[in-house]
Amino acid sequence: MNEPNQTRQDKAADVIVVGGGNAAFTAAHAAAVRGRNVLLLEKAPRDLFGGNSYYTAGATRIAHDGLADLQDLIEPDERHPLTEVPPYSAADYRRDLEKVTDGRNDPELTEVLVNEAGPGLRWLNSLGLKYRLMYERQAYERPDGTYLFWGGLHVGNVGGGEGLMHDHLKVAEKLGTEVRYGQDVSGLLTEGGKVRGVKVRQQDGSMLELRADSVVLAAGGFEANRDLRRAHLGEGWENAKVRGTPFNTGQMLLAALEIGAARGGDWGSCHSTQWDAFTPDNESNRELTNRLTRQSYPLGIIVNSDGERFVDEGEDFRNYTYAKFGKHILQQPGSIAYQIFDDALRPMLRTEEYDMPGVSVASAPTVEELAEKIGLDPEALAKTVNDYNNSIDLTIPFDPNIKDGRRADTKPVKSNWATPLATGPFYAYAVTCGITFTFGGLKSDTDGRVLDTSGAPIPGLFVCGEMLGGLFAGNYPGGSGLAAGVVFGRRAGSLA
Ligand SMILES: Cc1cc2nc3c(=O)[nH]c(=O)nc-3n(C[C@H](O)[C@H](O)[C@H](O)COP(=O)(O)OP(=O)(O)OC[C@H]3O[C@@H](n4cnc5c(N)ncnc54)[C@H](O)[C@@H]3O)c2cc1C
Repeated sequence: MNEPNQTRQDKAADVIVVGGGNAAFTAAHAAAVRGRNVLLLEKAPRDLFGGNSYYTAGATRIAHDGLADLQDLIEPDERHPLTEVPPYSAADYRRDLEKVTDGRNDPELTEVLVNEAGPGLRWLNSLGLKYRLMYERQAYERPDGTYLFWGGLHVGNVGGGEGLMHDHLKVAEKLGTEVRYGQDVSGLLTEGGKVRGVKVRQQDGSMLELRADSVVLAAGGFEANRDLRRAHLGEGWENAKVRGTPFNTGQMLLAALEIGAARGGDWGSCHSTQWDAFTPDNESNRELTNRLTRQSYPLGIIVNSDGERFVDEGEDFRNYTYAKFGKHILQQPGSIAYQIFDDALRPMLRTEEYDMPGVSVASAPTVEELAEKIGLDPEALAKTVNDYNNSIDLTIPFDPNIKDGRRADTKPVKSNWATPLATGPFYAYAVTCGITFTFGGLKSDTDGRVLDTSGAPIPGLFVCGEMLGGLFAGNYPGGSGLAAGVVFGRRAGSLA
């Protein structure tokens, strides 16, 4: 018998997918092409659809053998004959994951990711998703008009995250998947140890039960939940700006833990980046999306409000450092920092970010005047800039397309791309910590079957995307979030 405030429905679908981002839609497609009847339940209303995936640049990390090998996947571009895309092997991908996570990546999940990201994209491409080379973010034009891609992240969606999610919607429509918006899924239905559906909270507070043979959880992490951030990431994290959707509050993570699912991965760390500090509406902004980030920092220096540097801005290509620098800024006084460039560097900054409408920037003819404008001690900032300028080995040529080894031997060292900040006007871009997504999730096998605390699969329950823990910890190689959603969404949907 139903509880008084519950409505029971007979089977609503073969497969229920909870969430409406890249991982959810990929899982839905994989189940639908097998002839399964799929119902996708998204918490956001239709006009806020697409999860964090909507906010992305669409950058997706796959292994490949260079430009010739990518031609069957990417859209034509007149720049291709002028372009060099170094091969990026599965071994490179594995090595990068191990390097940035300090070996805390799950080796079995990693193996699947590095081998199946490329085939996964080709499969989505065959269904209707479109990909291209990411010229504006992952290559610098060389003086002779040619392009060299760097950093292992070369392919992205046409139209960025918006294009990705609109393409997913079209595919879902074509495959007959039913998509319902405004669905506040708040619990899992179980019968004899098997998951048999979900509970959806209705506006009047009552619960609707929707039943299915299996449930795929793709409802994101807990990055948009201040209390969970503080509890798991630590004090101060409640103040981070939410870069993406406000709907990833960890509700389904808690629901799965409640029925005995095991935690996977590192619940104490997350992906966080440098994010515009002062622009109004700098959280979950659907117009500016990822343009609020500031990613050209390897070319200049970053100082805190004491005028001091605190990271090695040139430790590695942006793709391998950007996801950990948000945390470093959160820990600075006032959780604020300034990226400093001079006029010679300014034309090299990513235009979509640094020419963003309403960007938080100050400029001045001298370093001292710049410091005054942003409320820093002029002497302190001038000392930092002078120390930096004087410690650069100018005999090494500057080349942003490679790790050029052009060091600034000061404290902290800047390992690559050090260039004197000498030509006014000087620019300061104010940045704070923007949280992207949390790394902790549920534990699963390599097919996305959720495991319980004894290590056994929970029948009928699958997980993918941000909700799947274990791939990332502490740091993250750019473009792996969408890739992981594709790979494990496809696997989960192929079994569900
Ligand atoms: C600004 C920004 C830029 C990024 N750029 C990139 C990039 O270029 N490349 C890359 O690889 N990664 C990028 N990322 C990370 C990337 O967004 C994620 O790794 C990826 O999108 C996660 O996909 P997902 O489907 O797991 O989650 P999401 O896309 O976040 O989808 C989760 C969905 O679940 C829904 N949901 C939550 N709770 C419930 C509930 N209780 N009931 C029903 N639905 C629920 C949410 O509304 C949301 O739609 C970026 C993220 C941000 C925020």
